[in-house]
Amino acid sequence: MSDLTPTHSSPEVNKKMKKLTGVKGMNDLLPQDAYRWEFLERTVQSLAKAYGYQNIRTPIVEHTEVFQRGIGEVTDIVEKEMYSFEDRLNGEQLTLRPEGTAAVVRAVVEQNLLYEGPKRLFYIGPMFRHERPQRGRYRQFHQFGVEALGFGGPELDAELILMCARLWDDLGLSGLRLEINSLGNEQERKDHRAALVTYFEAHVTELDEDSQRRLKTNPLRILDTKNPQMQELVIAAPKLIDYLGKESLDHFEKVQYLLKANNLPFKINPRLVRGLDYYNLTVFEWITDQLGAQGTVAGGGRYDPLIERMGGKPTPACGWAMGIERVIELMKEQGLEGEPPTQCDIYMIHASGDTLEPSFVLAERLRTAGVDVIVHGSADGQAASFKSQMKKADASGALYAVIIGEDEFAEQQAQIKDLRRTGEQVKVTFDDVLDKVIDLLVSNSD
Ligand code: ATP
Ligand code: MG
Repeated sequence: MSDLTPTHSSPEVNKKMKKLTGVKGMNDLLPQDAYRWEFLERTVQSLAKAYGYQNIRTPIVEHTEVFQRGIGEVTDIVEKEMYSFEDRLNGEQLTLRPEGTAAVVRAVVEQNLLYEGPKRLFYIGPMFRHERPQRGRYRQFHQFGVEALGFGGPELDAELILMCARLWDDLGLSGLRLEINSLGNEQERKDHRAALVTYFEAHVTELDEDSQRRLKTNPLRILDTKNPQMQELVIAAPKLIDYLGKESLDHFEKVQYLLKANNLPFKINPRLVRGLDYYNLTVFEWITDQLGAQGTVAGGGRYDPLIERMGGKPTPACGWAMGIERVIELMKEQGLEGEPPTQCDIYMIHASGDTLEPSFVLAERLRTAGVDVIVHGSADGQAASFKSQMKKADASGALYAVIIGEDEFAEQQAQIKDLRRTGEQVKVTFDDVLDKVIDLLVSNSD
């Protein structure tokens, strides 16, 4: 058989075809849930606008090195969570982006975007991490994130945190706790690191395998462990905050001062170190108890060393990212489901054949005037019965049906039927359909 044999035409083949499935941990977003995402997207976009953040869209694939350098080699993400592959043609090492910051900074440096001064940016999009799928943890998930690049003052850290608080308000969410910490500067982390190594070496038998390895590579990250058996050990470990010098403490104090001035409660969590390698000074997380183990909804902080590390001029920066799936899940938990919107204004019913032309012409005319129209589509190119089209019209959520049957066509007229309120039907000429529909929609919205 040649390659040209159409596979869909043979019932034999169809019978044997197995259903295809999606990739584990990567979800479909179905129409019945999409309105929640659309609401969230609109909300974060207007939030970004309220604070002067502009949209940036980077590719989903980057050179692996962007993340190796931007996130750090000794992190969960780079060590075990990245989807990486070799470009078949040129052998380049590529990776599906696991987070947004490294990619945004790569773009900003490459495009020289900071030439004119600091920039406030935001992004929304899918991220990919090879994690064990469970509630709130997926292999493709989505983030909304903001980055404030070129700002060194503590007021920007506070702005970012206040922005999150406003977002929870805008979404109607409650019960999110704010935890903050300061990671100081490099020297302070070095001093703390030495103390930490001494401490963990004295307790090396109590460390799990991962942490024993990290003791050699990145001991700070031991504090980030999710192993419940190690929590006591981690709680008693030397705290970075006790190693901060005056400048770092001042910065941290000013952030706290601005949060307090805005009546925003927070807790200082000395063990908060965040999963990425590039943070310094302020870090923060927003946490809920309502999502089980995956309770961190958003997190961020300052990453002053990153831009230079990515090949740019030394430039301070900070940002945060929020997990969209977790926020949607929390909205459902809190009963903030909202109503799926009415799908359209008009459902156009026709008798196929000659009636198609006026149906399509009228539908386009209505759309030009801003009216939403679904034209009935047949399954087999034949006219469906009036009854079955009426059922579809009802199910569509349309306010009115415009009906052009063969009788109507003969008279060059259409029926307009009220589907939601009265069930009444009026007959108008094709030329009058637009005006009549607009009259009805206006009276409907009163
Ligand atoms: P966690 O500690 O839960 O693994 P993280 O520190 O790896 O989180 P970040 O890299 O800070 O997470 O990402 C910011 C936010 O993105 C998280 O707070 C969370 O809401 C969301 N997120 C991270 N990984 C996933 C995932 N695999 N599935 C769904 N959401 C995720
Ligand atoms: Mg993680």
